[in-house]
Amino acid sequence: MNVLVIAPHPDDESIGCGGAICLHADRGHRVTTVFLTSGEYGLRELSKEAAWRVREREAERAGEILGVASVEFLRRPDQYLEEDTIDAARALKPILQRENPEVLYLTHERDFHPDHRATVPIVQAAVHAAGIAEPTLLSYEVLTPLSEFDRVEDISLVMRRKLMAVRAHRSQIRQFRYDLAFRAMNKYRSVVARAGRYAEVFRVAGESMSGISLPCRADPGWHRFYTATQEITEIIPTEAAFILPGEAISEVSALVAPRRCIPFLEKGGGYWGKPADDAAAIRELERQRESGASFIVFVSSTFWWLEYYAGFREYLCERFPCVRENEQIVVFDLRKAARVSIGLTA
Ligand SMILES: [Zn+2]
Repeated sequence: MNVLVIAPHPDDESIGCGGAICLHADRGHRVTTVFLTSGEYGLRELSKEAAWRVREREAERAGEILGVASVEFLRRPDQYLEEDTIDAARALKPILQRENPEVLYLTHERDFHPDHRATVPIVQAAVHAAGIAEPTLLSYEVLTPLSEFDRVEDISLVMRRKLMAVRAHRSQIRQFRYDLAFRAMNKYRSVVARAGRYAEVFRVAGESMSGISLPCRADPGWHRFYTATQEITEIIPTEAAFILPGEAISEVSALVAPRRCIPFLEKGGGYWGKPADDAAAIRELERQRESGASFIVFVSSTFWWLEYYAGFREYLCERFPCVRENEQIVVFDLRKAARVSIGLTA
């Protein structure tokens, strides 16, 4: 999976989503960081070129610590991004086309810093111009906290690396203790969201979650659910279709796009209720396999299916490899059926 992090200035990436970057890198994802400006305003005593050299070197060092695969500098004017949206979007476009990211991190539109706010329309224009499928846009917080969040990342295990990465931006830490500020913020987030010792939170920008209500996203169960969908994106290729028993279809679809999520039972493209019995479930499974479904995914709210439809479970277990089974999800790979001489028949 490709991940793009857009930072208005060097250090925003480490402060806002340094933990998430580490976790992506550790999962084997390719992370590219794009710095819209090289932060000359943060070193006003130096010439622009000298300031760029210092801050870009710091950004590269932070990238190494976080596990970033590629670092790009667009050198747009620091403090004046609002007046530069067209040119900045033009410079960003080829990187979007090259990386074709599935997830994109950016600052949020309520940030007090004008460059951070301007980043939102820059990214939107660049995604549109690039003609790529819209990635999941995740807004991060730098010094202005998000008033609402949709997802939480427990970063306890990578907090030390995040701290090192932020401190790699030495020229900035000398002026302001960003490290103390975000450590307190990440601590606060972990308590509020009940996620480990330190946590980062993100808000989904763009349309992908518009169908999911805010009360639903504020529920602590939502974050477990979100983690489950992240596992789906790791297992199931982007071009694949998978069967999802139960009613969570609209929520899951929004989070795993462009993977196609097939309701089960399905009729006319929508959810059509539970199967009457094992035989009906098996018949429907085979019908969906023939029309291209390559996986079936049970999330924790539908684990009871595997008890209740015991014959269906047996059918799945005998014929298809179970590629993930934990407290969040159970996934069977339907692409290759094992030959079975005995067992249930549809
Ligand atoms: Zn910034």
